[in-house]
Amino acid sequence: MRTEEPRPVRLKDYRPPDWLIETVDLDVSLHPTAATVRAKLKIKPNTAGRPAPLVLDGDELKLQSLAFDGKPLAAEHFVATPDRLTIGQVPNRPFELTVETLVDPTGNTQLMGLYRAGATYCTQCEAEGFRRITYFLDRPDVMAVYTTRIEADKNEAAVLLSNGNLVSHGDVPGTTRHFAVWHDPFPKPSYLFALVGGNLACVEDSFTTMSGRKVKLAIYVEPGKEARVPYAMDSLKRAMRWDEQVFGREYDLDIFMIVAVSAFNMGAMENKGLNVFNDKYVLASPTSATDADYAHIEAVIAHEYFHNWTGDRITCRDWFQLCLKEGLTVFRDQEFTASQRSRAVERISDVRALRSHQFVEDAGPLAHPVRPELYHEINNFYTSTVYDKGAEVVRMISTLLGVKMFRKGMDLYFARHDGQAATVEEFVQCFADASRREFFPQFMRWYSQAGTPEIKVVPHYDARDRTYRLDITQTIPPTPRQPDKEPMVIPLAFGLVGADGADLPLVLDGRPLDRGMLELTRLSHTFVFDGITQRPVPSLNRGFSAPIKLALPIEPDDRRFLAAHDSDPFNRWQALQTLAMTLLKTNVAALRTGTPPRDDDGLMAALGAILNDGTLEPAFIALTLAPPSEADIAREIGSDVDPDAVFTARRRLRAAIGERHRAALADSYRRMITPGPYRPDAQSAGRRTLKNACLDFLALAEPGDARAYAQYRTADNMTDRMAALETLTQHNRPECAAALDDFYKRHADDPLIIDKWLALQAAIPESATLDRVRALTAHPAFSTSNPNRIRALIGSFAQVNHTQFNRSDGEGYAFVADFVLALDPKNPQVAARLMGAFRSWRALEAKRRAHAESVLRRVAASPALSPDLHDIVTRTLADS
Ligand SMILES: [Zn+2]
Repeated sequence: MRTEEPRPVRLKDYRPPDWLIETVDLDVSLHPTAATVRAKLKIKPNTAGRPAPLVLDGDELKLQSLAFDGKPLAAEHFVATPDRLTIGQVPNRPFELTVETLVDPTGNTQLMGLYRAGATYCTQCEAEGFRRITYFLDRPDVMAVYTTRIEADKNEAAVLLSNGNLVSHGDVPGTTRHFAVWHDPFPKPSYLFALVGGNLACVEDSFTTMSGRKVKLAIYVEPGKEARVPYAMDSLKRAMRWDEQVFGREYDLDIFMIVAVSAFNMGAMENKGLNVFNDKYVLASPTSATDADYAHIEAVIAHEYFHNWTGDRITCRDWFQLCLKEGLTVFRDQEFTASQRSRAVERISDVRALRSHQFVEDAGPLAHPVRPELYHEINNFYTSTVYDKGAEVVRMISTLLGVKMFRKGMDLYFARHDGQAATVEEFVQCFADASRREFFPQFMRWYSQAGTPEIKVVPHYDARDRTYRLDITQTIPPTPRQPDKEPMVIPLAFGLVGADGADLPLVLDGRPLDRGMLELTRLSHTFVFDGITQRPVPSLNRGFSAPIKLALPIEPDDRRFLAAHDSDPFNRWQALQTLAMTLLKTNVAALRTGTPPRDDDGLMAALGAILNDGTLEPAFIALTLAPPSEADIAREIGSDVDPDAVFTARRRLRAAIGERHRAALADSYRRMITPGPYRPDAQSAGRRTLKNACLDFLALAEPGDARAYAQYRTADNMTDRMAALETLTQHNRPECAAALDDFYKRHADDPLIIDKWLALQAAIPESATLDRVRALTAHPAFSTSNPNRIRALIGSFAQVNHTQFNRSDGEGYAFVADFVLALDPKNPQVAARLMGAFRSWRALEAKRRAHAESVLRRVAASPALSPDLHDIVTRTLADS
């Protein structure tokens, strides 16, 4: 633990490094508790004039020896602490520094730096893990060429991998050890370094790039898991082809490797040529993975691969620029998924996730700009805002410029900045230069201003003048450290829908519009359309063209009309979501005052029409039937939130849908059954999604419905089995206990599947759940050493189970806080993430708010918090 008071890092304090490191020759001798790392660094000055002292970063390091230009450096010439190596007097010329450190992979429970995932040695260096391997200028603007020699006992690690291409390998004579040497010709920052050693099975394939080069593809997994690799391999090849076709980006090394490890703090890591993955995003078979797992694997494999250009070839100058690689790469993986599956379904799913996570984050004490200006602990900024809102910002550039011009800007970005550590300004400048559009300086506010813009539209139709007017205003709510905001550039895709469902031709200021796009740049605008011969229904923010909250006062009839007729599938979905949200908010208020809740016959009829529309994609129908999430409803209510009332109102609406459309749901359930063996493609998955949505509605509507248990018992794939089990557990069916027991017995030796079992139980919305979760922490299947187990059990309880985490007696908060405090010394990153569940505490009703505050204050006052946890708790408690 660092003991000094944490000091913030500020974007405005950035200055280039005094020294650069040109090459790194690493020699790593693996050992379970005492691995030696010899790093030979070629260092050169980066400033003219007086030589600066050399200060290298470290973290819990033990220095063994230090040599300057090949000669041992006497102790009086340097100071080495676990987290810093300082050499005061260095000549202002290139030199070679050889640093030998000793690290303990087994004792490394933070899973940052060199650690062991089970028996496998692996590394995680983003953001600041390389300094846990050797002393280094551990910042992304120091880019070096790495050569890595790894040595290990053959019995312990038959496979030795690092970045780049394999140069040589062989035995160490007279020992049971062997070695491998890897060379990566592309200069890279230290956070992209990776090393793996272990007894792993390998699945190989190849890919011929667009210029005809044959690249070897290798996916390494635990022996025995090879049969679960084909979908990941297939996803990788499709991603490689797509990046060539859509962005002209070709892979650049002779080999591309993925290693699946069981203990990993994040999803996956894009180390150059050697991606390291959480095994849940690699391994899939019909009986082990759900459709959602397959979709995640496809997306994460693509995301990490796409980083090869947006992240690795062009990296970030500093960590404030994190969205430069993440927002852009999320946008790219979303576009990839849209091309492989259904664009409409992908867009709606992404927006649902954005609203439930990023919008919630943006409305609470942890709100921050897409590019933060200050951080205490960078690990806490791997957020939905940086990733998902960051992707929306890139999407808006593409929307504003059009696909062709966007590609031109991307081409310029690759041409201009390949091999560099770039900034957001440099990225955006490429689009400004390519398009010569003038709004980009103002557009930069999307990177600097936090908060979700609120757009209010007042429409007015004048039948006599045949004009249609839209009065539009924008406001951006205050967020921490940002009380006042400037207007944003907002692309508002729209159409005016006529009585026959077709868009009316648009004439604005006497000129026909070639596409329905309004560009908002001021606090208020008025647009008047001419020649409108009938009262149209406005369809605004089509495709969710901007990540905003839209207030558009139109009649429920008009929303139902849009749900039935809008040419934009996103807004068809949105129209019914808006109606449902209005009803839910009304009913949450009614439940709290003891007045009778309302029904909405019109909404019910519109949902029925969607359910019976055979021309719609099944996955789209399933999304339309699902009401807004509990997190989304709570955020819309904004203050004095009672999670029990939110849950009850939402469940009541779902039960009403089940009752009203029982026959149609039962019919869909039957029709969506797909005969033949399981296939993970989007169409088959969409049919299962609708089938299982119907199953759940029917179970809510008919307490004696036997379909769920029958499906559980006869399912031949994990998607159907899990869906049935979820229905049984969520609705507290008598067969629930037997099914959970059976599931455990079937899969007891498969931790990734047992994660599903843990997560389901943690998500049961009943008061016994807390005791059950507490008991499961002592179950042999659970372990605090593995982040997947923690996320499955504690993460699901804290982030998915809104009623039980937010118990009115405060016990849910106390349990999570105690768990976090116990985990913090071992794995501060995961501990801090869990604490993020408290991000909306101020919006709760008074009793829960008081419980949450006292728990937060107790955590904040605990001694020896990690910087990660200290930062999150302090910001969560801050006044504004
Ligand atoms: Zn990423």
